[in-house]
Amino acid sequence: MANELVAAAALGVTGAFGAYWYLKFKCVLPMETGQRASQKAFSDFTSFVRETLERAYAPEQVEHYGDLTNYYLIKLHRAFPDSSMLVFEKGRGEWRLINYLKNFKIEPKLLTSYKWSALDRSSLEGEMLRFDDVRAGDFHAMEELFTVFDIRSVLMCPFTPAGGAAERLIVFGAAKPAMFDAAQPYLRFVASQLSSISKVSDQVFALKKETDNLKNEVNAVVKELDVAGSRLIQRARERKALYEVVTRVTGPGVDAQNGCSAILNIVAKIVEADVAASLLFDEAKGELVVTPGSFGITDADRMLYSIPVSNQASSSVRTFLTRKPFITADAQNDPDVLTRYAKLWDIHSLMIVPICLGDRIIGVLRVGSKRTDFFTPDQLEFLTIIADELAIIIEMFTINENLSNKAQELAQLNKLKDEFLSTVSHELKTPLTTIKGFVSVILSGEVGPLNEQQLNFLAVVDQSVNRLTHLISNLLDLSRLNGKVEMEFQTADLTELVRSSVSGMQLKAREKKVSLANALEHDLPAVQADTRWIGQVIDNLLINAIKYAGSGAKVSISGTDKGEAVVICVEDNGPGIPTEEQKMVFDKFYRGRASVNQVPGTGLGLAISKSVVEKHGGKIWVESKPGHGAKFCFALPIAKDK
Ligand code: ADP
Repeated sequence: MANELVAAAALGVTGAFGAYWYLKFKCVLPMETGQRASQKAFSDFTSFVRETLERAYAPEQVEHYGDLTNYYLIKLHRAFPDSSMLVFEKGRGEWRLINYLKNFKIEPKLLTSYKWSALDRSSLEGEMLRFDDVRAGDFHAMEELFTVFDIRSVLMCPFTPAGGAAERLIVFGAAKPAMFDAAQPYLRFVASQLSSISKVSDQVFALKKETDNLKNEVNAVVKELDVAGSRLIQRARERKALYEVVTRVTGPGVDAQNGCSAILNIVAKIVEADVAASLLFDEAKGELVVTPGSFGITDADRMLYSIPVSNQASSSVRTFLTRKPFITADAQNDPDVLTRYAKLWDIHSLMIVPICLGDRIIGVLRVGSKRTDFFTPDQLEFLTIIADELAIIIEMFTINENLSNKAQELAQLNKLKDEFLSTVSHELKTPLTTIKGFVSVILSGEVGPLNEQQLNFLAVVDQSVNRLTHLISNLLDLSRLNGKVEMEFQTADLTELVRSSVSGMQLKAREKKVSLANALEHDLPAVQADTRWIGQVIDNLLINAIKYAGSGAKVSISGTDKGEAVVICVEDNGPGIPTEEQKMVFDKFYRGRASVNQVPGTGLGLAISKSVVEKHGGKIWVESKPGHGAKFCFALPIAKDK
């Protein structure tokens, strides 16, 4: 019995043990495995959600909604690497493939619109649809796309907007539907995320775009300000350079060569050039020739550089002919440049601008640097301004040079003329004195009686001889004054000189029916003067007044002590002198228009008077109101006691 009990107990224990293990293996273990698997799936899903949410709103370099979709698809693809993800968007009754993910790129032709009723259905119902074998259904329209992606099973998940049919959906595809159950929560999550993001994304991205635009605008403005600032500095430097150009070239003792050289030096300094040369057009040779005074070019090298204007391969010639500025970053490797000159001076960067004077082009300004790609368009513009200055300065110097050459020529001619006059006058004076002497003897009747006609004729001869003698003595005076005749200065009594001149002229005045008065009220102070020449000045003024004032006129001479100088004036109430003639009456051989034919004269009296007065350190002038007489005055400095 006991044995039976033991056996029964053993059987019971064994059975319970067996049952336990049976239950353990058959039910508990699979349940535990299932539980662990679902725990892992759950924890995978939660970490997926956490991770995507954390970074969804801050993925790197998001430009638009598509980027965000991509971000989710990538995440999804990491979780389900064997599957493909296609995003469709609805438009005009068709579904356009807007995004896809698998580790390859598809042909662009597949990124197009598709018509598949399943897509419409899922969108309308807002529900996930599952096709374990798409070939079993109507998927003809998708065949090519699904083949490329190797999709046979599809899980379709619409994006669920607030109301109405879905506008976008994800097609989750795989060769087999094995992971569809696991993928469902992921898809739902991603779809709901993307659908809610899509609602705000447009505004967010528009804002982002606007911010970016604003940023760019601000950057552009800052950049512009920078450029404007450096331009201003550059302009200030250029202004200074121009100022320097003008002051340097207008200074004393500057000629064409050192004027140009000064400009070229300044230009070279401002644009940091190694060579600056002006090439002017030599019309006779038909060549552009480097002017002396170029910067960075020796005279020996300068001689090597002249280009015929027929040589259009030369950039200088082209600029000369077209008047268009030229700039190159590397002259030695530019087919548009004659490289031998660039090589001669080791030049790489080169600028050439025309030198124009109004409509006329006179040459070009060439500036080079040993550095490559060195000059800027701003510098080219500056060079153009300088070239205008250069043109004016070159022209100014050319005119000056021509003028001074002309002046030298004229001075030489004048000297020859004076020498000629002096010789001729001397040669004429001797025979005239002889003629005058014999005519006087004949007229006096010493050599026999004359009839009335003979007397008259001889009187005319005598008068003509007098006039000729007067002219010749004037010419001689003038040539003496032009030559270095020395004044014989002595203390002179002007009161006495005036008195004797007036009394010497009274006879002539009476002949002309002119009243001549000495209006000197006080004795005049003594002056240092050559009395012969000053006496002649007073005579000239009195004779002119008597000659030109005409019959019945009044002439008077006055003198004033002005402290520093004595002023003597001869005044008449004749016709006076037209305003435009007043400044010419002191010129040699000038005769007033009204006087030329009516009053005999040589046009030398006032020129001689001016020269004499000036040799005394004095001044002579005329005051006249036409129709109201003329007043000729001269001032002589008063001798100071030492
Ligand atoms: P000339 O008397 O021989 O012509 P001058 O040199 O003395 O030469 O004078 C130059 C010109 O000045 C005269 O031709 C005349 O036109 C003008 N002139 C000089 N004195 C007078 C004057 N008192 N009144 C008007 N014209 C005068």
